[in-house]
Amino acid sequence: MSKDAEGQKVAVIGGGLAGLAAALNVARISQSAGSEVAVTVFERSPNPGGRAQTTNKDGFSINFGPHALYQGGAAFPFLKELGIDPVGAAPPATRATAFYNGKARLLPLTLPEVLQTTLLGLRDKLRFLAFMTRLNSIDESSIESLTVNQWIDADKDLRGGGKALKSLIRTLVQLTTYTGDMSKLSAAAGMCQLRLAVSSGVSYLHGGWAQMVDALLERLENAGVEITGGCEVSEIFRSPETGKITVVFKDAQNGIVSETFDGAIIAVPPEAVKSIVAGVRESAERKALYLGGDPLEDVKAACLDICLSELPNPEKTFALGVDEPTYFSVHSSAAKLAPPNGALIHLAYYLKGGETGTHEIEKRLEKMMDDLQPGWRDKVVFKRYLANIVVTHKLLSVKNEKLGGYWKEETEEPDIFRAGDWVGAHPLADGSLGSAKRSSELLVAHLQKQAKSNGSSRQSVISCG
Ligand SMILES: Cc1cc2nc3c(=O)[nH]c(=O)nc-3n(C[C@H](O)[C@H](O)[C@H](O)COP(=O)(O)OP(=O)(O)OC[C@H]3O[C@@H](n4cnc5c(N)ncnc54)[C@H](O)[C@@H]3O)c2cc1C
Repeated sequence: MSKDAEGQKVAVIGGGLAGLAAALNVARISQSAGSEVAVTVFERSPNPGGRAQTTNKDGFSINFGPHALYQGGAAFPFLKELGIDPVGAAPPATRATAFYNGKARLLPLTLPEVLQTTLLGLRDKLRFLAFMTRLNSIDESSIESLTVNQWIDADKDLRGGGKALKSLIRTLVQLTTYTGDMSKLSAAAGMCQLRLAVSSGVSYLHGGWAQMVDALLERLENAGVEITGGCEVSEIFRSPETGKITVVFKDAQNGIVSETFDGAIIAVPPEAVKSIVAGVRESAERKALYLGGDPLEDVKAACLDICLSELPNPEKTFALGVDEPTYFSVHSSAAKLAPPNGALIHLAYYLKGGETGTHEIEKRLEKMMDDLQPGWRDKVVFKRYLANIVVTHKLLSVKNEKLGGYWKEETEEPDIFRAGDWVGAHPLADGSLGSAKRSSELLVAHLQKQAKSNGSSRQSVISCG
């Protein structure tokens, strides 16, 4: 970027992973090109991090429900570019439990376990092995118009298989996508995510996802980026006088304040975008530009986070329901998340569209604890039930694929971009960070162009004079 860009200002609205990473990248790219762009992050809550926040309590680091970072996804290489190398460990996924027909069986995740498990009969074991071996060579385009359910029914290895085999494949896709509704989830998206998990694995981060958030905050501070916590943006519009982007926000000390910027990245959830543009006194079409419109659908889960002073049964560290959408994992048995002897356990129930986490679901998750960790109730240090939380704002549905993908980082405004897990083609945090990278690069390129054209118009004025 040329020196002409100096004096430019960028607003990033939302201080979750997407907003923080996008802000850092704008500052980083412009600084390394020899120029400085003043970047401000506006975050509604007092603490940045959004859904990647970690609660610290009595030596436990408790993520907002179970979080695992995909080693082969879009997040890792981008974080590396930002100078961040997340450190963690792979989940404890051997000798894991599969609940099926009310009985605990061996979850077949390795070859010896496939041979030993009573979950599948001999023919289905062979079908399962053939399917998993073929996973890497399945052509995405051959299944892109199918839902996961349709794909499982049609696949050449799974077609003749029994109920347990088909449920097992659904369970593995559900585990990797968080999506409870296989009648909507795109087969291509589900297959790619399963393949990613099998080929590169996932990592539970030491100290929780705060590790990433803290690393971003430290670098943002060094880069001179201003982060205003407790600052809710209520409106964004283009000033008719200057043509610049005007951000209106609530400031704890000064009340309603507005400030103008040369560029902006909107990194808040779709619902928040809706309210931010609600004040734009312009056409409905214009609002849709910022929002992205339908066909977004949230993926939700009910989560039970439990901290124990001691793990009653150290042998049982990972379990999945095969005929019900349940998840159990002792995250502290892999990553550093608990004090000595303590255990941090995340349980989840994958919700289908329209379903909400009830008290019965909480009881069901507690029953899973009773089965796997008898006596756990006497050892509880902290317990939290998050009944109905949005895991990601983008269900990877066939409908979206047919409509040509997902909301892009670009809006129709040349100086306003989007980022978040609902933007771009990647799922979950890979979506947040992948779109943060692209939106920040596009914005810097735009600022650079703007600075150049301002510079040349200044020069022409000088030479004319
Ligand atoms: C239970 C659970 C489990 C998950 N597990 C995984 C996993 O295993 N792997 C994975 O990759 N991902 C996982 N995720 C998803 C991942 O956490 C999210 O995709 C990611 O953290 C989203 O980041 P974001 O910045 O896009 O959005 P958010 O974190 O939602 O950030 C948006 C920010 O905008 C702020 N904001 C909203 N409105 C305004 C406003 N008007 N003005 C200013 N600020 C505003 C919010 O306060 C928030 O901080 C999980 C999520 C949950 C909830």
